[in-house]
Amino acid sequence: MPTERSDSDSRKLLRRLRDVLGTKAKGQERLDQITHLIADSIGTEVCSIYLFRDPETLELCATEGLKKAAVHKTRMKLGEGLVGRVARIGLPVNTADAPSEKGFRFMPETGEELYSAFLGVPIQRVGEKLGVLVVQSKQARAYSEDEIYALEVVAMVLAEMTELGAFAGEGGGGMGRLHKQPVLFRGATGQEGASEGRVWLHEPRVVVTNPVADDPLTEIDRIREAVGVLRVSVDDLLSAESLDKDQKAVLEAYRMFAHSRGWLRRMEEDISSGLSAEAAVEKEQSATRARLSQVPDAYLRERLHDLDDLSNRLLRILTGQGKDTGAEMPDNPVLVARNIGPAELLEYGRKLKGLVLEEGSVGSHAAIVARALAIPMVIHAERITNEALNGDPILVDGDQGIVHLRPEETVARSFRGTMAMQAKAQERYASLRDLPATTCDGVTIALHMNAGLMADLPSLVGSGAEGVGLFRTELQFLVRNYMPRRDELAALYSRVIEAAKGLPVAFRTLDIGSDKVLPYMKPQDEPNPAMGWRAIRVGLDKPGVLRMQLQALIRAAAGRPLAIMFPFVSEHGEFVEARAHVLREIYREKSLGHAVPSALEVGAMLETPSLAYAPDAFFEMADFISIGGNDLKQFFFAADRENERVRKRYDSLNASFLTFLEVVIARCAKAGTKLSFCGEDAGRPVEAVAFAAIGLRNLSMRPASIGPVKALLRRVDLAEARAVIDRARREGAETVRPALMEYLASVGE
Ligand code: PEP
Ligand code: MG
Repeated sequence: MPTERSDSDSRKLLRRLRDVLGTKAKGQERLDQITHLIADSIGTEVCSIYLFRDPETLELCATEGLKKAAVHKTRMKLGEGLVGRVARIGLPVNTADAPSEKGFRFMPETGEELYSAFLGVPIQRVGEKLGVLVVQSKQARAYSEDEIYALEVVAMVLAEMTELGAFAGEGGGGMGRLHKQPVLFRGATGQEGASEGRVWLHEPRVVVTNPVADDPLTEIDRIREAVGVLRVSVDDLLSAESLDKDQKAVLEAYRMFAHSRGWLRRMEEDISSGLSAEAAVEKEQSATRARLSQVPDAYLRERLHDLDDLSNRLLRILTGQGKDTGAEMPDNPVLVARNIGPAELLEYGRKLKGLVLEEGSVGSHAAIVARALAIPMVIHAERITNEALNGDPILVDGDQGIVHLRPEETVARSFRGTMAMQAKAQERYASLRDLPATTCDGVTIALHMNAGLMADLPSLVGSGAEGVGLFRTELQFLVRNYMPRRDELAALYSRVIEAAKGLPVAFRTLDIGSDKVLPYMKPQDEPNPAMGWRAIRVGLDKPGVLRMQLQALIRAAAGRPLAIMFPFVSEHGEFVEARAHVLREIYREKSLGHAVPSALEVGAMLETPSLAYAPDAFFEMADFISIGGNDLKQFFFAADRENERVRKRYDSLNASFLTFLEVVIARCAKAGTKLSFCGEDAGRPVEAVAFAAIGLRNLSMRPASIGPVKALLRRVDLAEARAVIDRARREGAETVRPALMEYLASVGE
């Protein structure tokens, strides 16, 4: 292999590689031709292609120079040996003395002991690992930067050829089956429920049909023009008036990259070496992604993300493949995306059958909207946007946080079986709709629903809920990119009250901060946002928005009853102050000639343990209290509700937690204050029974949970359930769940 190779050599090789695509040869034959071509063209003794058999295993699929008998026999795990290391880190490994390298694995069947120098480069396409391309030679020398670069360019073309199906058929390792095989993704639950549908990619894959430049000069013109268009579009974005400081900062970073000479120069060099403009963008993007995974610094990682995003935009400009690819959305779309904002998700609306994200978190805005839309959602499905193609069959198991992409028929059949059982159960629940949630020993539990969108309201009738126990008002603030106006809010709240047809609605005032950051409000750089400046704390410190919202609520009520509750109240004084705001606004509205509510209830959410020990005066003053179990639990156990590692560590039926809830129940009972529970746990049937058994009489939950909760409550004897819980606690059980489950099993279906 000469140390300096001219660009035209490289271009010639790439064209010869492309010509292989034009032949009638199939998978193995093509791979053999390619290793021969590369070895011959760059004058090296060995050239081998290792491809993924499965996501963890690489297989030698073709070689020029090593023993042919080893082909399809030699395998290694991801990370194993030098080849495995290249695949894992996504970066080249170059050594003059391979056998003395740490982690070297000797594979006698290949005869590679003769070769000292080793250069391996990843075959990858925009972060998707496909295999490793290796050259070896007897002479102990490190390959030059130019040689590494040349091999990377070749690997890029191989990756693009793979995407075009060039190695389909026998011999192609994982490549031949790319985007065809069933793949299981183990993520995490974003929202419970199961669905079957077809993939709809939020950002469809860009298909590069020609990775090799026919005429480098034309390609250079194309990339310059595309970068020009990109720069103008970023400048346009930056000149928008509605930008806040932080959005500006992000776009400034975009502009810096878009105008970076280094980026354009590297792509031009790739083109000079024979790549098409599109393949050049992808080559640089792959390099960025590989670097991204190596960077420990969060700020730098963010910037590399920006560059990744910019590369996607550039590719779309070059290929003309915008979001609207002309493809038709399937009837039962399951949206697959790296991440998505709440407004975009709302635009898709209820037509979605499911949502699968690579990133996201249980408390993200997208999760909040998915919950409101009642669509099953799986988060942390890593790399699914690389694997999935529009129209692929997909099963979403939101309960387990699992996704089956292109499932085997047997898997699909059993999944459908489970869904059919759930549907049957739903039918059974529907028949209970107009019946009360009365237990066998005659205790009636009021079941309310949680809501946050206008779209939720039809469920009020369908689910049989007795009212809205929690209306999360922040969604209206989150889905806009500006602060909603009072009149807009008043109109919306009024429609909510009308849709409730006289049933009570508890409006929770804006609960922002922590995970819920409004796009148009300055984010607070807090080390612990969940325990930071959020919810009522923001409302009291900067009362402008709170007052506006209260006015909107009073106007919406227009002489009808109104229930307002404040989130995250931690001490009596906060409630006194918040309530005073309500009274002041009512007085003000009245003096302006507006009708005042015919009845007013002002309540507090109990989400921090401190409030359970507030003075009696608090319980006497509050018209009602609603336990926000999601937050309360995270503070009770000091376990972040969004941290997958600790989120499920502590059981809601933990004896200490139940005993704590009893303190709240007793204090409310003493003061005669209405009490409900509106965290997610209220909608879990077993938890609901436990809460009812210890004395809660009002639960608010997702509409879909009302049926299952009611069905179970109607089968249990609360006194018996209570006795079971008390016995388990007396016996020192950490959680009462096993004992309660045993009892519930005895009451049967
Ligand atoms: C809660 O914390 O339990 C609650 C209902 O509020 P959110 O989930 O909106 O924080
Ligand atoms: Mg909360």
